[in-house]
Amino acid sequence: MPETPYFVSYPEAIKILESQPLSLPTEIVPLDGAHNRILSEDLESKVDDPRFDNSSMDGFAFRYQDSLTPPTHLSIIHTLQAGAEPSPLCVEKGQAVRIMTGAPIPDGADSILPIERCEVDEGNSTLLLNEEGKKHFIRKQGENLSKGQIALNKGAHLTPSSIGLCATMGYPEIPVFQQATIGILSTGDELQLPGTKLNESEIYESNSFGLSGLVKWAGHTPKRYDSVVDSIDILRNKLDKAAEECDLILTSGGVSMGDWDLVRKIMEEEGDIKFWRVKIRPGSPPLFGYWKGVPIFGLPGNPASSHVVFRMLVAPYLRASTGGGGIQERRVRVKLAESFKSDEKFLVLRRIKVDTSGEQLRAYSTGYQGSGNLNSLVLADALTLLEPGHSGEKGTWCDALLL
Ligand code: AMP
Ligand code: MG
Repeated sequence: MPETPYFVSYPEAIKILESQPLSLPTEIVPLDGAHNRILSEDLESKVDDPRFDNSSMDGFAFRYQDSLTPPTHLSIIHTLQAGAEPSPLCVEKGQAVRIMTGAPIPDGADSILPIERCEVDEGNSTLLLNEEGKKHFIRKQGENLSKGQIALNKGAHLTPSSIGLCATMGYPEIPVFQQATIGILSTGDELQLPGTKLNESEIYESNSFGLSGLVKWAGHTPKRYDSVVDSIDILRNKLDKAAEECDLILTSGGVSMGDWDLVRKIMEEEGDIKFWRVKIRPGSPPLFGYWKGVPIFGLPGNPASSHVVFRMLVAPYLRASTGGGGIQERRVRVKLAESFKSDEKFLVLRRIKVDTSGEQLRAYSTGYQGSGNLNSLVLADALTLLEPGHSGEKGTWCDALLL
């Protein structure tokens, strides 16, 4: 065995990965193309938000002082709608202005009453107030954000609401990390594309499709290759091609101890392995290293494992590659509603359904936990994070990673 770290703990694996992240440059994208991208610089607002004091209601604006002894009659002198030209108008004692949501508050006025709480005479010239005006219906300039304030930080995962905020702050385009092109290479003689006719020993290849979705979920660009048969020479060619075309390579299958586990074999003989095997269950076989200078994860072939290992190792690595940015890990505390098998040495990642209906979050198994059982992952909304030595007895509490 070479002296590469072998069978490392989960924290050790993360430490190795975070010490050598990808370096992703910045590019500028229009807001329309910003969904699920990762901001590469702090963004400060170019404007106050709101830009000026304005009404949060359709109603009437007047002097608060005038409304203190209802009923009160005020004469309606003007109408202001959102986007109306600013007028030199000033609301004097005994006067009111009809105002729409978003319209600037005229000078002199300092309170609003919504239209449904007012009475207006037939000629639309006199307003009858039966209650005091409300100051809180005025949205004050800069109360959400002031000009120059940083509202989105480097690393922010761009969601529909944060993209909206970029527009509010005055940005037509924004700086984001370039997406990594991530090559996905399944290995195994038995694998065939869904839709093809299978002979008796063949199965449908699924990992590359699942991993491709995970790469997109993480905000990067998958490049899915056809699966590779178990041949060292063909694998070498495919890895070379992927290394030329991609920033990072993910393989699936062929990393265990078996004679046909050729990814592990070729990496041992011709690659540069930084660690092999991690004390997590499922998903203990993975390796990380470099092929012709390009980082590579050798993920396990079992479909549930390859997905779990992406979430546990590849996602943190990609996060580290954007300064800790992108979709963040979300953990919750759950109470085990049934007993789970834990382990003295391994971090155990059981697929669970979290029942949120009671006062405590309760975790149920999604069924048979075999690492080939993708269905149990589909049914899951979280993974237990049962630390080594932690009891998996019913009634115990543990952290869970939301999927
Ligand atoms: P391996 O890690 O190559 O020994 O594969 C472990 C198990 O996962 C075997 O049962 C394989 O048939 C299965 N497997 C490997 N790769 C894939 C894949 N891309 N899609 C579906 N199953 C796979
Ligand atoms: Mg195989």
